[in-house]
Amino acid sequence: MIKVKNLTKTYVKNKALDDISFSLNEGDILGFLGPNGAGKSTTMNILTGYLSADSGTVEIDGRDIFEDPAGAKKKIGYLPEIPPLYNDMTVEGYLEFMFKLKKIKLPMKEHISAVCDTVRITDVKGRIIKHLSKGYRQRVGLAQALLGDPPVLILDEPTVGLDPQQIIEIRKLIRSLGKKHTVILSSHLLSEVQAVCDKIIIINKGRIITSGLTDQLTSTGKSTNRIELVIEGRMPSVYSMLKRIDGITNVSERGECEKGCYSYIAESSKDVRRLIFRTFAKTDYNILLMKPVSVSLEDIYLDIISGKSEGENNNVSDI
Ligand code: ADP
Ligand code: MG
Repeated sequence: MIKVKNLTKTYVKNKALDDISFSLNEGDILGFLGPNGAGKSTTMNILTGYLSADSGTVEIDGRDIFEDPAGAKKKIGYLPEIPPLYNDMTVEGYLEFMFKLKKIKLPMKEHISAVCDTVRITDVKGRIIKHLSKGYRQRVGLAQALLGDPPVLILDEPTVGLDPQQIIEIRKLIRSLGKKHTVILSSHLLSEVQAVCDKIIIINKGRIITSGLTDQLTSTGKSTNRIELVIEGRMPSVYSMLKRIDGITNVSERGECEKGCYSYIAESSKDVRRLIFRTFAKTDYNILLMKPVSVSLEDIYLDIISGKSEGENNNVSDI
C-alpha cells in the first residue's frame, strides 16, 4: 500500500531525513516514533505531497507522489500537526467546504453525515469550530482527513495537547479506523504507539533506528538474549559454569533468593536455554527457574533520547 525508498531531505544545511525506507501493507497501523526534531513531520509532509524530497521515491497505492501527485493525494487523508481548520465556520460548513475543495464524487450530505458519525461529532455539526474543545477540534480534523474515504490516513501527532480522557478516545478512534484504512501516525510517546500501532518505526535525527512489529519489539527487544535463572547450589561454582557455556556473553549474580538458591541474569548471543539445561542436568545443581527477560522497547527508546544509540542505523526496514 505504501512504499518509501531512500528518502533524503535537507533544509539548507540541516539534513532532516537521511535515507529513509519502509513499506506498509493494507490495514497496517504504523507508529512513527521519535523525539522532537527526529524528522516525523518532514516524512509525513513528503508522503502527502506537501514537501519535495532531495531524493528517493514514495508510492501510495501504486501512485508515485512525485510523478502523479494528484492521483496519490486522492489516496491519502492527512491530519497535519496543526489541523487546517477555519475557526469561524460551523463544523458542517467546514466539512462541506473541504468536500468541494477535494472534488469528491460521493453524495455530499450522506457522506459527511457518515464521516461525522464515525468520528462522533454529529451532535456538534452546527457549532462554530472555535467554540469547540481541543478534543472535538481534533475530531473535526480527523473528519476532514476521512472525507472521500481515502485508503491511507496520515496523522501527525494526533493526540498532542489533548487531556487524558480525550487522548484515550482519539486513540480508540484511530484503532477502529485501522480496520478499514492503512494508518501512519506519529508520536513522541512510546506508550502511545504501543497502545495504538501494530508496527513501529523508531526514527531519530532523520534515520530509522529500529523497526518491527510492536509485539516483537516489545517482547524480545533487540537481538539480545537475556535469561533470568534461579539455581540451587554454591554460587561461585554455578557462576563459573554459566560463564563457560558457549554463547553466554555475560553473567551477573543477583543474590540469594531462597536458602542456598541464587539468582542470575545471563546474556547471550543466541538462544542458550537448552544448553543451560543440559549442562546443569549433569550436576547436583538444580535449575529452579529459567525465564527470558525482555529488553524493553522503553530501554531502547530511552537510549535514543539520551543519545546513546544514535549511531545505529538499520536503514531498510522489512515491515
Ligand atoms: P519532528 O516532526 O520529528 O519533530 P521535523 O520533521 O519537524 O521533526 O524536523 C526535522 C528536522 O528538520 C529538525 O531538525 C527541524 O529543526 C528541521 N526542520 C523542520 N522544518 C524545517 C524548515 N521548514 N526549515 C528548516 N529546518 C526545518
Ligand atoms: Mg513534528
